[in-house]
Amino acid sequence: MDKAHNKYNRVVLKLSGEAMAGDAKVGIDPVTVKAIAEEIKRAYETGVEIGIVVGGGNFWRGRSSGDMDRATSDYMGMLGTVMNALALQDMLESLGVDTRVQTAIEMKEVAEPYIRRRAIRHLEKKRVVIFSAGIGNPYFSTDTTAALRAAEIGAEVILLAKKGVDGIYDSDPNINPDAKKFDTLTYQEILTRRLTIMDSTATSLCMDNNIPVIVFGIDIENSIYDAVSGKTIGTSVN
Ligand code: UDP
Repeated sequence: MDKAHNKYNRVVLKLSGEAMAGDAKVGIDPVTVKAIAEEIKRAYETGVEIGIVVGGGNFWRGRSSGDMDRATSDYMGMLGTVMNALALQDMLESLGVDTRVQTAIEMKEVAEPYIRRRAIRHLEKKRVVIFSAGIGNPYFSTDTTAALRAAEIGAEVILLAKKGVDGIYDSDPNINPDAKKFDTLTYQEILTRRLTIMDSTATSLCMDNNIPVIVFGIDIENSIYDAVSGKTIGTSVN
C-alpha cells in the first residue's frame, strides 16, 4: 500500500498505559504489546510518519498517590512511561519497524533526549519516534504531551487509542448501557460537558492549535490503519 492511500502524512498516536497491560490492567503484557505493535506496523507500512506518545497509567498515576508529594509522584509516573516506550520499541523492532525512543527527562544511557528537530528528521527517515517521560514536568498528562508533540512536529491529527471503549460517550458505557456514542464533537463540547476522555489542558491545546483528535478503541482490528487512511472510526473531535 502506498502513501497516496492515506489521508495523513504525519500523525501522533497516543497509547494509554493501560493499552500495554492486557486484562491485568497493570504492568506490561507481551502478547498485548505484540498485538499493538502489529497494528502500528500495518499503518507504518503505508508510509505514514508516526510519532507515538505512551502513557504510564499501567504503572503509576501521579494524582492517585494519596499523601505523597504530587510532583514526586508525577515523576514516578513519567518514569513508568519510559518502561512502556522501551517495551514498545523492542516489540516494533522485532517486527522490523525502525524506531527511536526519546525521553523528555534526560537519561541518555537509555534513550536519546527529546530534541524536536531530531525527532522530525527521524520521522522523515521513516523511523517511528516514541516520545516518553511526558513533557518532563509534573502536573501534566501524556494526553497533553500528545497535543504538545503533535503541534511541535506538525502532525495533522492525534489518534487517541483507548482501551475498553471505542469512542466518546455521554456517560461511561461500561456502567450505563444506554450511554450514547458521539460520531463528532467539538473541543468546546468536551470542555463544557466535562467529558473526561481527555483532560482540559490537552483539549485546550488541541483547540488552540487546530489539531483534530480521533478517539477510538485499540482493541478493534485495523483501527490505526483505518484512521490513517481517513476511514471514519470512533469519535472525531475538531
Ligand atoms: N506525567 C507527568 N507529566 C507529564 C506526563 C505524565 O507528571 O508530562 C505523570 C503523571 O503522574 C501521570 C503519569 O505520568 O499520571 C502517567 O501518565 P498518564 O496518566 O497520562 O498515562 P495514561 O493515563 O495515558 O496511561
